[in-house]
Amino acid sequence: ASHLSREDLKALIRTVPDFPKPGIQFRDITTLIGHHQGMAASVHHLAELAGAAGAEKIAGMEARGFIFGAAVAVQLGIGFVPVRKPGKLPIDTIGIDYALEYGTDRLEMDPGAIMPGQRVVMVDDLIATGGTALASAELLRQAGAVLENALFVIDLPDLGGAARLREAGIEVNTLMEFE
Ligand code: AMP
Repeated sequence: ASHLSREDLKALIRTVPDFPKPGIQFRDITTLIGHHQGMAASVHHLAELAGAAGAEKIAGMEARGFIFGAAVAVQLGIGFVPVRKPGKLPIDTIGIDYALEYGTDRLEMDPGAIMPGQRVVMVDDLIATGGTALASAELLRQAGAVLENALFVIDLPDLGGAARLREAGIEVNTLMEFE
């Protein structure tokens, strides 16, 4: 089967100026995932990268990382681990607090979701500053993951997130970039 190219996928992203606040160009994946071939090709390209990285499990960050991450896990025939916003899991969790521009946020996960030494690949829709991905990587490593790869549909390279992840020993692959 032939798949839409990465340029075709980029054309399916909707850019919304000044959301959620003035000056932000919001890169909206709603239009990409609503397009059958767009969604299929995104998952195909991400699964190829995750497979090449030797993924034994896929981790996705709430909420948009669930959409792509779960589909990639199914495509590869491996399990999926949700990295969740606080208070969502009905069990004792492990968690990590991390700094935002204003204030802090928190991610939580099931401490038994990963077998020690399992190779986990993270998937999210977009990397900006990398704060979310770095916190998520640290949490997954606490849970026993070998975490050396992160995949994103969209990179905003000017915000430096991918570079920060690479400094932390995480290889980053993305399907497209926006300035
Ligand atoms: P960061 O922690 O700064 O890398 O931000 C990552 C998260 O914020 C991603 O999971 C995105 O869903 C969201 N995000 C940040 N900036 C944008 C943007 N310009 N457009 C759409 N989503 C964004």
